Amino acid sequence: MSDVFLLDGEQVPFTVGQTVMAAARAAGRYIPHLCWHPEFQPHGSCRLCTVKADGHFAAACTLAARPGMTVDNRTAELDDQRRTLLQMLFVEGNHFCPSCEKSGACKLQATAYELKMMTPHFDHFFPDRAVDASHPDLLLDFNRCILCELCVRASRDADGKNVFAITGRGIKSHLIVNSPSGRLADTAMSLADRAASVCPVGVILAKGRGFVIPIGERRYDRQQIGAAEEQ
Ligand code: SF4
Repeated sequence: MSDVFLLDGEQVPFTVGQTVMAAARAAGRYIPHLCWHPEFQPHGSCRLCTVKADGHFAAACTLAARPGMTVDNRTAELDDQRRTLLQMLFVEGNHFCPSCEKSGACKLQATAYELKMMTPHFDHFFPDRAVDASHPDLLLDFNRCILCELCVRASRDADGKNVFAITGRGIKSHLIVNSPSGRLADTAMSLADRAASVCPVGVILAKGRGFVIPIGERRYDRQQIGAAEEQ
């Protein structure tokens, strides 16, 4: 038996215990997000899915749906805040789309298109973290990490390996590899792991297959992010 809430004035059915995000996605409605993924426990960290529920700001990925609640999603106010969050993410990392293998399949890039982000606005940090090319099949470019922790959750919950972790606080937060040497080659990670394909940006990349899908035919070239399946 399902109940309904209102999302931007339209009814969305839900079952008890479902979050606003999960119910909206199941109904084909798009709430912008980066750290949420239907396969994993919500994390609530990117704040891109912030909505106004009965007049109060809340993260849609952790907010339990209630019968009759009124949720504002794609308002000018909320999309403006989302654009600012995106701009901060773009300048914190090295997101140089034309030279990135993930371009066209990157959730950060596709969300920026969806929200019509026209400029980075803030000064670039230009992080300079060494890439990890030690693994035979995978490359890590830490300079693009948006700290969504999807790889952390995928490696722990789907692969049972705990290959990744986030360390540091605030602006010093960064991704690390959980091995004595700190190198990916010294973990049990494999190309077939869920963690190898879950990164929404261009940090965790398969070696030896760069730019296999031509520009114009990539995931978000073919479908806008709101209509595309989760990767
Ligand atoms: S490497 Fe990718 S999946 Fe992992 S925390 Fe960074 S952006 Fe998220």
